[in-house]
Amino acid sequence: MAQKSTQLVHLERKINNPAHGAVHHSTNNSVLFDYADVADLEAVFQGKKAGHVYARSSSDSVMALQNMLCELEGGSEACVFSTGMAAINALTFSLLKAGDHIIVSQYLFGNTRSYFERLLGFGVDISFVDVTDADRVIEKVKENTRMVFCETIANPGTQVADLVNIGTFCKAKNIIFAIDNTVTPNVMFNANLVHATFIVCSLTKYVAGHGNVLGGVLVDMGNFDWQRYDNIDAVYRGYEPAKWGITQIKKKGLRDMGATLACASAHQIAVGLETLELRLQRMSENAHQLALFCKRHNAFNKVNYPGLVLHPQHERAGELFSLHNDKPCYGAILSVELAPNKNMRKFLNALKVVLRATHLGDTRTLALPVASTIFYELGAEKRAQMGIADGLIRLSVGIENTADLLADFIQALELS
Ligand SMILES: *Cc1c(COP(=O)(O)O)cnc(C)c1O
Repeated sequence: MAQKSTQLVHLERKINNPAHGAVHHSTNNSVLFDYADVADLEAVFQGKKAGHVYARSSSDSVMALQNMLCELEGGSEACVFSTGMAAINALTFSLLKAGDHIIVSQYLFGNTRSYFERLLGFGVDISFVDVTDADRVIEKVKENTRMVFCETIANPGTQVADLVNIGTFCKAKNIIFAIDNTVTPNVMFNANLVHATFIVCSLTKYVAGHGNVLGGVLVDMGNFDWQRYDNIDAVYRGYEPAKWGITQIKKKGLRDMGATLACASAHQIAVGLETLELRLQRMSENAHQLALFCKRHNAFNKVNYPGLVLHPQHERAGELFSLHNDKPCYGAILSVELAPNKNMRKFLNALKVVLRATHLGDTRTLALPVASTIFYELGAEKRAQMGIADGLIRLSVGIENTADLLADFIQALELS
């Protein structure tokens, strides 16, 4: 098979076979679909025939992107959504019931944590645990444990989950293992190697990459035994067993909840995908240089980046994440805390190249104080449990020239 960089630029044309030799799939805005024979319309409604009935549920443009993402992840079927959060919502809403227990990483993107806090109110029992050690997960498992949810490299603390051991355990116990790989997208992480049941990814971030479109995806990796999973409705048990989970997600999570990706967005995301590997390579090199600079500089008290030898999961990160199938890649997210004699707000305000903005995976380097923004609503106690210090700054490193980024940091430190 071709290397990922080659695959990325030829995939859309090859997988979807657009008419007239076009390199992009056509964008068709039709919401409805006419059938000459109503029997065909009925068959599509009943899942007996392929086709579209209403664009909230499916359309050609959206399916084209789904096929591409599924191929890149090495999964069996994908479903895209209007945002990454919508994908997470569809996953849990479709497959869990009141009375179920799930295990969720205590190191999570703030909005995801906030989402799971809300789920508690619907009768789902949740244990928040330190997923850097599979034993912490295993000791929390109960009779009614249905799912383990974690991020590959946690945003923003950069803790790396014990994916191989958690995945091996979940596979043996037939527990859904859902991994958010937003910060380590498909080109640098092979979800099959860790027995993931589902990959969740915010396409808004690295995949689309240019800060101009929102989207999310769930990929069914095709290795879960749905016949041993209780929460599948009788009507979906009529499909072939491998499709039970993703079918319930497409019906209950997408069709009934309605967070459909717009077809224009599907096109923009597909364009972003073409340069995904190229951007990640440059961004992670920049991030590594910036992390080394901060580590050596006495203006910083703490630097979290999996590429640093002293990062607690440095070795694990090197085994899990790579580009070109061999070279370790530690991603482009780092977080730092300044020394007490430095002023965080002065430092941030003095940056000239780096933007003060929320978002990550952009071509531009972004800095954000996280405790007072994304994690503000959670309160001091939960922030402490999640390892979010008051002065923690998240950096999402872009594709700028490395020397320009370092020079920007140097001048901002002098003014802070
Ligand atoms: C941004 C983000 C999300 C949510 O994605 P949206 O597309 O913004 O809804 C989920 N998980 C992680 C790790 C993220 O960084």
